[in-house]
Amino acid sequence: MGLSEGSDFIREIIEEHIRTNRFQGRVATRFPPEPNGYLHIGHAKSICLNFGIAAQYGGTCNLRMDDTDPSGESQEYVDAILQDVKWLGFDWGDRLYFASDYYDQLYEYAIQLIKEGKAYVCSLSPDEIRQYRGTLTEPGRESPYRNRSVEENLDLFERMRAGEFEEGTHVLRAKIDMASPNMVMRDPVIYRIKKVPHYRTGNQWCIYPMYDFAHCLSDSIEKITHSICTLEFENNRALYDWFLDTLRVEHHPQQIEFARLNLSYTILSKRRLIELVERGVVEGWDDPRMPTLAGMRRRGYPPEAIRDFCERIGVAKTENLVDLSLLEHCVREVLNQWAPRVMGVLRPLRLIIDNFPEEKTEEIVCPNHPKNPSMGIRKVPFSKVLYIEEDDFCESPPPKYNRLAPGREVRLRYAYKIKYEGLVKDPKSGKVMEIHCSYDPESLRPSSSGIRRTEGVIHWVSAAHSLPAEVRLYDRLFNIPNPGAKGDDFIEYINPKSLEILSSSQVEPSLRGAPPGSRYQFERIGYFCVDPKLSSSERPVFNRIVPLRDSWAKLAGTINQGNKQEKV
Ligand code: ATP
Ligand code: MG
Repeated sequence: MGLSEGSDFIREIIEEHIRTNRFQGRVATRFPPEPNGYLHIGHAKSICLNFGIAAQYGGTCNLRMDDTDPSGESQEYVDAILQDVKWLGFDWGDRLYFASDYYDQLYEYAIQLIKEGKAYVCSLSPDEIRQYRGTLTEPGRESPYRNRSVEENLDLFERMRAGEFEEGTHVLRAKIDMASPNMVMRDPVIYRIKKVPHYRTGNQWCIYPMYDFAHCLSDSIEKITHSICTLEFENNRALYDWFLDTLRVEHHPQQIEFARLNLSYTILSKRRLIELVERGVVEGWDDPRMPTLAGMRRRGYPPEAIRDFCERIGVAKTENLVDLSLLEHCVREVLNQWAPRVMGVLRPLRLIIDNFPEEKTEEIVCPNHPKNPSMGIRKVPFSKVLYIEEDDFCESPPPKYNRLAPGREVRLRYAYKIKYEGLVKDPKSGKVMEIHCSYDPESLRPSSSGIRRTEGVIHWVSAAHSLPAEVRLYDRLFNIPNPGAKGDDFIEYINPKSLEILSSSQVEPSLRGAPPGSRYQFERIGYFCVDPKLSSSERPVFNRIVPLRDSWAKLAGTINQGNKQEKV
C-alpha cells in the first residue's frame, strides 16, 4: 500500500520516521488494553488506528494486556477482549503479550534506578504524598525520605517485595524534580504495595508497578516504534522518556497522543460502564444498548460498519463529540448492501380479505434484495387472513397519510391491491380489532403486468403461516447528548425508553430457524438481528439494529464527523 493513503498527523510523523530511517524504517505498534472491563467503541478507534497503521506500512501490531493492577482485572475480561478484537477483524497472530510477564524485568529496572540514585523508598502516607505534591501554581516539597542511602533503599524495596510491610506504608518513587512545572515529574510513585492476588501471577507479587513505569518499559521490551495513546497522557510523555533515558534502554519508542473518541448519547468510560452493569441499569456488558463491542455485536452492528466509522472520524489533536447518527449511518450503509429483505409485523392488526377463498394459500414471489438479483427470491404464503402493522391503518387519517384508511385502496407489498370495506371494533374499548377488505385478483405483480397506481404500499404476513416473534426496539441509552460531562450523576440521564419489548410480533415463516446473529431488513421498518441469547428456533427474538431512517436527525442536515463534515 502507498504511503500517502488516508493521511493524518500520526501517519505523517510515521512517514517522516520512515524517510529519516528512525527505527531502521520499522513500524511496530500495539493495542494495550487493561483487562478490567469490556472494550467499547472508543477502543475500536484505537484498535483500527494501531492495526491499520501496522498493515499500511508493512509493520506489526502487538496485542498487549496492560495488566499491572490486580484489582479489577480478570481472565474473563482477557477472553472478552480477544474475542472482540478478532470480531472487529484484526489478527495479532502470535503477538499476544502481557505486561505481567515483564514483572521480573520491571523489578530489575527499579533496582537499577535505586542503584543509580534515581529512585527511593518513601514512607509518607498516601495523603501526605498528595499534600507534598504541591499544585499547578505551587511547587511540591521534597519528601523527608528522599535522601535515603542506596543501601537503605535496596533493603526496604526488597522487604516491600517480600511482603514485610502493609499497604500504604511505603512506596518506591522516582527521584526527579519536586518543583517541576509538570506535576507528573514530581517524584512519581513507581511501585506500591498491594496485597491482592493477580489473575495471572497469583500471590507471587505483593508490589505492583505503576502504569507510567510499566507502560514505557513494556513498549521498549517489545521494540514498539510508535506508542500511540490518548491525549490525557500528553504530560506523561516527559516521564515516559525520562524512564527510558535514565535506564538507557536499547530501544526508545516514540509516544504520540491523539484525541479520544467521545460519542453522543452514550458514555465511553470503563468505570461508568461497569457502574451501569453493576447497578443493573443494563442487562450486562453485552446489552445491545451498550457502546461496548460485545453489545454492538449482539445488537447486530456489522464489524465493517464500525471500521468504516473509525476511518471516517479520523484522528486529530483536539477532542470533540461525534454524533451517534454517524455510526448509525455507517451501520445502515453496510446492511443496506447485503441484509436480506423480509416482512415482519411488529404490532399486528388482523386484516380479512372478504373475497379471498377460505382454504386457499398462494405463494407470493418476493425478491430477497431489490437491487441484487443474485440474492434470489423466496415464496411467502398469502391467505385470507393477514396481519398488517397497526399504524398502517388509520380511521381518520391526517393529511399526507398514504396507507390504509376508510374508502382507500393500497398495495400489499409484492402482492395484491386491496380496498377498504369495513372494520370491527371492540364494543367496550372502541379499539379497532380487525379490518375487512376486498382484493383485486388481477392486480398481482405490478412490475410485470403494467403499473396500476395505488396510494401506498404496506407490508403483511399471513396469519395462518406467520411465526410469532419478540421484537426489541432500542433507542439511545441516554437522553442528553453528553452524559459523560455530567460527572457521577450520569445515571439520572438514562433514557427510560431505551428498550421497548414487543412480545406479539409476527414475522414471515421463512424466518423459522433463522441462525442467531443473522441480520435482515424488515421492509419499511428497519434492520434486525436474531438475538443469540434469547431466541429459540420457534420463537426468535429480534433486536432492532437501526431504524431505516434516522428519526433523530434534525432535517436533512450535516452530521459531525470528527475532523470532516459530510452530507448524509
Ligand atoms: P477508560 O478511560 O474508559 O477507563 P482506558 O483508556 O483506561 O479506558 P484501556 O484499557 O487502558 O482503557 O485502553 C486501551 C487503549 O485504548 C488505550 O491506548 C487507550 O488510549 C485507548 N482508548 C481508550 N478509550 C478510548 C477512546 N474513547 N478513544 C480512543 N482510544 C481510546
Ligand atoms: Mg488506561
